[in-house]
Amino acid sequence: MENIFSKCFVCEKEVDPETSSRNPAVNLPVCANCKGSDNEKKKEAELLEGMADGFVCGCI
Ligand SMILES: [Zn+2]
Repeated sequence: MENIFSKCFVCEKEVDPETSSRNPAVNLPVCANCKGSDNEKKKEAELLEGMADGFVCGCI
């Protein structure tokens, strides 16, 4: 499960977690191409919806 954190959550391109931006809403890395794009907003909404749908992690 660790490699999810080194991929852009929008396009799934590999990113360096040390240098990439992170979407604060979903706490996942996003590459420069996707940052601020409509796709990012869409994915973000999808993920947040999924989390609200009973998949709540208590680890934060
Ligand atoms: Zn991307």
